[in-house]
Formats: sequence, C-alpha cells, structure tokens
Amino acid sequence: GPPALLGPAEIRELAESLGIRPTKTLGQNFVIDPNTIRRIVAAARLSPGAETVLEVGPGLGSLTLGLLDAAGHVVAVEIDPRLAEQLPRTVDRFRPGSGQAIDVVSSDAMAVTELPRVPDALVANLPYNVAVPVLLHLLGTFPSIGHGLVMVQDEVADRLAATPGSKVYGVPSVKASWFAEVTKAGVIGTQVFWPAPRISSGLVRFVRRREPVADIGAGEALGLGGDRAAAVDRDAVFTVVDAAFAQRRKTLRAALSAWAGSGAEAEAVLVAAGVAPTERGEKLDVTQFAAVAAAGVRRGI
Ligand code: SAM
Repeated sequence: GPPALLGPAEIRELAESLGIRPTKTLGQNFVIDPNTIRRIVAAARLSPGAETVLEVGPGLGSLTLGLLDAAGHVVAVEIDPRLAEQLPRTVDRFRPGSGQAIDVVSSDAMAVTELPRVPDALVANLPYNVAVPVLLHLLGTFPSIGHGLVMVQDEVADRLAATPGSKVYGVPSVKASWFAEVTKAGVIGTQVFWPAPRISSGLVRFVRRREPVADIGAGEALGLGGDRAAAVDRDAVFTVVDAAFAQRRKTLRAALSAWAGSGAEAEAVLVAAGVAPTERGEKLDVTQFAAVAAAGVRRGI
C-alpha cells in the first residue's frame, strides 16, 4: 500500500515523547487525518518528484511526510525549536532513506530571507494568526515560488480568494492577487486536527502571475531594475491599497487625500488612472489599484 501517514495514535505518541502541549499562540493544531493530508497534497498539484516545496510550520510532520511522497525536495521552516529538532527523526522513522530530501530550518518564517534551496512551490498548513502576513512575505521574498496550496482559517481563505464587490474583499484579497491568481480549493472540518480548532479551515490555491499586473514605474524612477524594482513597485501599490481600505466606507478621493497630499491631487490621480473619485476601494480590482499607483508615480507622489 501507500506509505503511512500520521494518524491520531502517532501524533499523540510523538507529542507525548517530546513532552509537547500544543501552543495556541503558535497556531499549533496538528493534522491527525491521513485523508486530509492526501487531499491537501493532491490539491497542490505538484509535478511528481520534481519540485522543491517550501513548507511553513511542519509541526509534528503530518503534511511533511505527504509532501516527501510527492515532491523532489522539502524545505521545512518551523519556529518551535522542539518541533524543528524532532522533524528529521520523524522523517527517518516514517520515511527511512528520505533524509536527503529534506532541509529543516529552525526559524520564524516572517524572518526568512534565504533558504537552503530555491523553492518552486509553497504548501503549508499555516499558523492561523499569521497566515496572511506569512503568505505575502514568502510570495514577495521568493519569486521562484510559482504556485502553492495553503490551509488557513476558512474565513481567511474566503478573504484571500475574494473578488471586488464581495463583502469580504479587502487588503488580503488585493495583495494576494498582486502576486497570483488565487482560488479557494475546499473546506476542511475541525475534527481532523488535534487539538481541534474552533472554526473550519479553507484551502487556498494560487498560481503566480507570469507578468506583473501593470508597469508601475516606481522602481525604475529610482534607477532600479529586476527584483528590487519589482519590490518598490509592489510597495507603491500596497501603500495605495492600505490607504484605500483604512477608511473603507469613504470615497477614494477622501481615503487617498493624505497619500496624495490633498483631495484635489487625489482626484487628479484617480482621474488619470481612469477611476471615478467617488468610487470606493472595495470596488477596485488589483489592476485598477496598480493604475492608481502608476498615476501617482507619474505625478510625483
Ligand atoms: N503542518 C503541521 C500539520 O499540518 O499538522 C502543523 C500545522 S500548525 C497549524 C502550524 C505550525 O506552524 C506549528 O507547528 C507552529 O509551531 C508553526 N509556526 C507558528 N508560527 C510560525 C512562524 N512564524 N514561522 C514558522 N512556523 C511557525
């Protein structure tokens, strides 16, 4: 049969042998259901054996073992040193001979700017309280990540995949779609975890855009090129997005007046970008936010 995955008995045994009580603040809810792991790995659509997969928060290794069966290599970044230290032993025990196929990085994913290998994909059951910042940090820091599948709180999954005009469309939706095409790929119940979280989880699949959403020109204006220019352009767009949603119910003219320097200048930028100044941010897609940021650059903001 297929290689074994961790079930309730194995998870309990591992946690006990390590003396680990799951830490709520670190979002430590471990998957105890092999079918859920198979579902996540299948939804990640990895090219069998070919990809280097970045996993954030491997925990006791539930998903890591599933990824080792589907990836060429796994780079696992874990903030809890007890779990990071145990992971190679767990791999050795449940996937003997796979030790070469994994690197364990004992670190906060938010602080990671370099990895031992270039990741092709991100597949993770993300720690819930930092899921969005971690996802955006990794997409911004590692342009090689071409696609991925993350498990997050179900309502966060809805927000990440939301389109303009939806009630839950907001900053995470726009920022995620700056990087990638984002879709929801399913809901996962609470009973597949130990300990069970309060609310359901959602699967989010993403495929990175091949081309930038728009030519912003902010990096170029600073004489930069390549990834550095891309980062400056992204920051220019994200600044507009943050300002637009900080005052969600205001018109864009009002919401962007501090950013532009005045209401009149905000209006001029919006008009130049082809956006009605009376519109609200929740109606704009990422292309329109990019147009506003680009118009801001052209007008010297
Ligand atoms: N992947 C495992 C699974 O599916 O059973 C565990 C997932 S659990 C929801 C989240 C994991 O992320 C925990 O192991 C936790 O220690 C780790 N974690 C929390 N914050 C982190 C951070 N900032 N960077 C890296 N790992 C983190």
